[in-house]
Amino acid sequence: MNRRWGIDLGGTKIEGVILDDSMQPLVRQRVDTRQERGYGHILMQIGGLVESMSEKSGIPRPESIGIGTPGRTEGADGVVKNSNTVCLNGMPLKKDLEEVLGMKLAIENDANCFALAEAMLGAGRDEMRHPGRTAFGIILGTGVGGGIVFDGRIHRGAHGIAGEWGHNPLPGEMAPCYCGRSGCVETVISGPALEAFYASISGRRLPLREISAASGRDVAARRTIDRLVTSFGRALAAVVNILDPDLVIIGGGVGNIRHLYTPAARKAIEAHLFNRSLDIPVLPPSLGDSAGVFGAALLNNPDSGA
Ligand SMILES: [Zn+2]
Repeated sequence: MNRRWGIDLGGTKIEGVILDDSMQPLVRQRVDTRQERGYGHILMQIGGLVESMSEKSGIPRPESIGIGTPGRTEGADGVVKNSNTVCLNGMPLKKDLEEVLGMKLAIENDANCFALAEAMLGAGRDEMRHPGRTAFGIILGTGVGGGIVFDGRIHRGAHGIAGEWGHNPLPGEMAPCYCGRSGCVETVISGPALEAFYASISGRRLPLREISAASGRDVAARRTIDRLVTSFGRALAAVVNILDPDLVIIGGGVGNIRHLYTPAARKAIEAHLFNRSLDIPVLPPSLGDSAGVFGAALLNNPDSGA
């Protein structure tokens, strides 16, 4: 029996899963992160979760485990950077967790875990069965990120930043970005950026899903959705021109906006494509909240990750 254990370390919840041979969850369990209690507490929570999953299921602790975390990790010790769970930043999470758990750890950021799970078990599973296929998995929500899955594995790249299209520049855009530059894709098509754009032209603050619902009758809402679709097209075309993936999957809150799956959205991408025709599927995700933890579990598979 080839079981895979995964942990999704989120800002509010830590979730664990054990997948069986056929990728079905045998055990799923959650605990609160309580990040306000600090780094040491998070390590203990994860240690306790793994122990409890093993006890409740009767499945012995594994030799290795996969973990997904917000932010990047660098070096052999897995030092965390750019995480919104700020107490993790600067800490050697991989090294410390390997000590606490007494097992090997494969660690990846949550966008890469999302991309791996959706490509191999979710929306992309039929297409990605064929050898040599590439999927681009997008997180489009509060932030804009992504991950690349090639032939069943995450492509991390030389700097570990492969797929980070959210900080490509969008020519003509000037808004400052938290990364220190300005005019990044994220400053235009993230949920908060679109809601701020709508507020700036309408004088009203609405959540994006309500802006989307009102776009048939409200001119400001229409302009906001048009801005999303055209800017998304420009930004994604830049990725497709280089990566030329076999499929694209759009996760995150903004990924629920139906306008991204319309012929108009495809045209917005094609307007900047070298070959002028987009002949691949652009899909919504199919695993829901499970993608992060399933992706973490897949990191353990010598054929599909880290
Ligand atoms: Zn940026």
